[in-house]
Amino acid sequence: MGDQSKVHEIRWNPLIRQWIIVAGHRGRRPWRPEEKGLACPFCPGTPETKDLGAWDVIVLPNKFPALSPEAPKVPRFHMGFFRVRRAIGICEVIVETPVHEGDLCDIDLDHMRKVVDVFAKEYSRLGSLNYIKYVAEFRNKGKEIGVSLTHPHSQIYALPFIPPRIMCELKSFKRYFKKKNRCLLCDIVKIEYEEGSRLIYENKHFTALLPYFAMWPYEIHVYPKRHVQALPDLKEEEKLHLADILRVVTATYNTLFERDMPYMMVFHQKPTDKKNYNYYHMHIEFYQPYRDKNKLKYAAGIEWGFWIFTYDGIPEKKAYELREACGKALKKLDKYLGKIP
Ligand code: ZN
Ligand code: ZN
Ligand code: FE
Repeated sequence: MGDQSKVHEIRWNPLIRQWIIVAGHRGRRPWRPEEKGLACPFCPGTPETKDLGAWDVIVLPNKFPALSPEAPKVPRFHMGFFRVRRAIGICEVIVETPVHEGDLCDIDLDHMRKVVDVFAKEYSRLGSLNYIKYVAEFRNKGKEIGVSLTHPHSQIYALPFIPPRIMCELKSFKRYFKKKNRCLLCDIVKIEYEEGSRLIYENKHFTALLPYFAMWPYEIHVYPKRHVQALPDLKEEEKLHLADILRVVTATYNTLFERDMPYMMVFHQKPTDKKNYNYYHMHIEFYQPYRDKNKLKYAAGIEWGFWIFTYDGIPEKKAYELREACGKALKKLDKYLGKIP
């Protein structure tokens, strides 16, 4: 069988029509090096960062990349019944701050605007490569969701295919546009303002709300008020307001149960395969795994086995809690640009 850790390819699951990234080397990933007394690789002065001079935000290669420009060519004997392709792509880490602890809300507004800029620039740079079809940008925080390094950081997976969830969204936006000649998300924002019960925070260019169709108890979506497809479409003032709302949302989470909260933050942007996606409307989704102060919501048999999500609670009540927490969080933030609608 040879060295299993050398297997690096993308396999097709024909039952659910999805690509699975197989990366044998990722099995050797270290878990929480500081718990073993080892240095944090993202702090200034470590081998990974020491040649970069003074920095406030840096982009580093992922040391255990799921995808790589040097991924092996797929050997012929794999091309039998099952579909397989080369694990080509790029995995990067964005270290948002030299400070070892904290969250996005602890980064000051102007610095956070630079972070947003880095997300936009990397999206353009990686998206322009001919083998990249999608730039997936996201942030995992907290050991509850398996984050192996505590130093604040986000990740980028530049992919040779469009992720299934994005495919699904594109289809929905396209269908809606064909039928109504309007954007699905622009209409959702309009309805959410009419109803008001799920709004959490807004500034001049963005709205944060708990969606009507939330799957996670304290899910928050951040919607640009203008119909844009990806981060590079944002004007300078809009980037500042995005920085603001990301700080407010993370501060809201950390205030909700008066404890540091884990979450996933995902950017949903258009693919980078140069096709026309004018019907799409970019947005940012936050999933937070707690359903109560000490109770985790697990994705288990019904969620994983059937892709059916049950919402434990009432979305409008959870939105109210988030709005209250946001009010308290704003009092603690050094600067913010918006208000509770
Ligand atoms: Zn560190
Ligand atoms: Zn729109
Ligand atoms: Fe989405």
